[in-house]
Amino acid sequence: AAMPVAPPAPNRVQDRTRPAPSGRWIGAAPFVNTPDTDTAVAANRGWGAAIRSRMRDSALGERTAADGVVTSRGALEELVTGTRAAGEAWRALGADERATILHRAGEELAARRAELLEVMGSECGKLLEQGDPEVSEAIDFAHYYAEAGRRLETVEGARFEPPRLTVVTPPWNFPVAIPAGSTLAALAAGSPVVLKPADPAHRCGAVVAEALWAAGVPRDVLRYVRLDEGDLGPELIAHPSVERVILTGAYETAELFRSLRPDLPLLAETSGKNAIIVTPAADLDLAARDVARSAFGHAGQKCSAASLVVLVGSVATSTRFRRQLADAVSSMRVGLPWEEGTQVGPLIGPAQGGLLSALTTLGPGERWMITPERLDEDGTLWRPGVREGVRPGSEYHLTEYFGPVLGIMTAQTLEEAVALVNRIEYGLTSGLHSLDPDEIDTWLRTVEAGNLYVNRGITGAIVQRQPFGGWKKSAVGTGAKAGGPNYLAGLGGWTDAPVPA
Ligand code: GLU
Repeated sequence: AAMPVAPPAPNRVQDRTRPAPSGRWIGAAPFVNTPDTDTAVAANRGWGAAIRSRMRDSALGERTAADGVVTSRGALEELVTGTRAAGEAWRALGADERATILHRAGEELAARRAELLEVMGSECGKLLEQGDPEVSEAIDFAHYYAEAGRRLETVEGARFEPPRLTVVTPPWNFPVAIPAGSTLAALAAGSPVVLKPADPAHRCGAVVAEALWAAGVPRDVLRYVRLDEGDLGPELIAHPSVERVILTGAYETAELFRSLRPDLPLLAETSGKNAIIVTPAADLDLAARDVARSAFGHAGQKCSAASLVVLVGSVATSTRFRRQLADAVSSMRVGLPWEEGTQVGPLIGPAQGGLLSALTTLGPGERWMITPERLDEDGTLWRPGVREGVRPGSEYHLTEYFGPVLGIMTAQTLEEAVALVNRIEYGLTSGLHSLDPDEIDTWLRTVEAGNLYVNRGITGAIVQRQPFGGWKKSAVGTGAKAGGPNYLAGLGGWTDAPVPA
């Protein structure tokens, strides 16, 4: 048998100004995570600076990308019927052929790293250092799902039946990795896809689609659409020809989709309200850094972000950790993504509704340890805020806000802290800072969340190493984790394989 061609170890001297080596993925290859850009390499710093200046220019320019806008019911019908019909040939192609194309998609995404970073910054306000791992994740999804699709065909006694049409509705906060990952998963499983990007991130979605088309995914198998009319979105979701919807977004959106079509086969990663517990056995320096980064990376606009920190025992009663956290947070540079040194960028739009009130008002017994500060006219740029004295069962304790605000709660014991965390109806990510093995063990056994992180930040899941997904109200559907071994299997159905004659 032919030996699988193993990809070379990631370049030690990585230079993003040179084209990435291509043709690495030929045949079945062991999965290797794509390295993020190494900014210790001088050439890469120059490369990053050039992206930032293009980012600024295109952010200030006209936004014209209007490709793929569906404006009428007739066009929607054509979209659904046409994509579903084109899917026949995609399914018939077989997993091996599809894997070859999807590996190539990983290379096309890699070749567009700079373009993706530029558009993520200009369109969504994402900083280079936040966007760079996201591009790596998108590339990882391509290679990982390509092989996962192949494995679906080798399950004995059962044959995988892909959905005949999948609709992908990603969010704007991970405008590259999530549309890419969801789309690649469905394609790898053998399903055609209608990709409807979140509107504030539609240009990012378009670059992802272009990369996949360039790799050889036929244009009628992957359709990129923006829906112009208010009621076309619901009509697409409710369309009886749609056999699977992959949603990442708010829990309420999943409920809305379900109300449109009660039998909707939905795979959804939904809201989070995530906490990090810090015990007296923690390395407090590390904890302060990780809490600040998890809370305010991408201005807190991650499902995985820390919204609460629960201080246990002497960490709660002394001022040491609070002072460290206050220093860490107040020294963060707030600015635009093309300004060098920015650590907290802008919100996707002006803070409003619940987020605005979380940034401007306090609940009973609460006070600001660091008061959030609005830095621009329209309210998209905020100095992050930290509130103390959050009471069990209060609004702040239990509500998701999705922005640059963190709350501090206190508990006498680890068990009490875990009970505070588990009282939240979501369960996406959760963190513990403690160097005590017994505490770590207790926490791992009792905390209710999909992704658990010990002595590190709670964002930034990595394909295969730490598949991403939650439970409780953070998941709707099978709860299969993105970038993990069960994701594709849950997308379709299974039927008896023909018994060999
Ligand atoms: N996968 C991302 C992370 O681990 C979060 C995705 C999301 O916000 O939906 O940080």
